Amino acid sequence: MKNKFTILGCGSSLGSPWITNYKGNLNKSSKNIRTRCCAHIQKGNLSVLIDSSPDIKNQFLKNKIKNLDSIIYTHEHADQTAGIFEMRPFYWKNKIKIPIYGSRRTIRALKKTYRYCFVEEQGYKPIMKAKIINKNFSIKKNSTKLSIKAFDVTHGLIKSTGYLMDKIAYISDCNKVPQKNLKYLKNLNYLILDCLKFNRHPSHFNLDEALNLIKITKPKKAILTNLHTDLDYFELKKMLPKNIIPAYDGLSFSY
Ligand SMILES: [Zn+2]
Repeated sequence: MKNKFTILGCGSSLGSPWITNYKGNLNKSSKNIRTRCCAHIQKGNLSVLIDSSPDIKNQFLKNKIKNLDSIIYTHEHADQTAGIFEMRPFYWKNKIKIPIYGSRRTIRALKKTYRYCFVEEQGYKPIMKAKIINKNFSIKKNSTKLSIKAFDVTHGLIKSTGYLMDKIAYISDCNKVPQKNLKYLKNLNYLILDCLKFNRHPSHFNLDEALNLIKITKPKKAILTNLHTDLDYFELKKMLPKNIIPAYDGLSFSY
């Protein structure tokens, strides 16, 4: 069985269009309808989610993901975590608390915001078990093992976690990769990278900054994600060299 990586959502915090139906400069195309950022890895029979966006239920249904073994979190912002509540059926199905992984700060914030997921409240059983990550950790299921390297990246005033697994790096929320962590981005097959807008932003890469990091790290292929309403899929694709593509919801690759 081939392993598969799927971009479940590639939109920025409000998605596209916004709830007010604001669409910015986007052409009418399904590639410009974007749910909030998160991704999924299927390695053998192991199913791992990166972040649980507010759109997670429909993202699972649309991509026909039927099971879930673990979640790894990049950071605690609502657009990456607010779907956590939707995960309850996997606890019922597998009859084990869903292991979730994140940095010390991320786990602390998740436990505070979503307390009921971790401790019994009002007679409702907790559905999750939190694990603070080390630099290197792995997730196993039977004979399948996903080895993961975690590293800090700057995301405005906080640190978000970048993840590297099987020569794929996922950095969805970032405005700077510290020099010392650039070594994790060498020899990648895929770099999935934050690219919010054309203009600069205090907590996300803009297009120029994303392209600059891609130029330095030279992945075989780069996929731009966390796209705001001013980045039209087709216009962006036209501007980019062949090995760099804008993400769209449901974009997947086998590896
Ligand atoms: Zn964020």
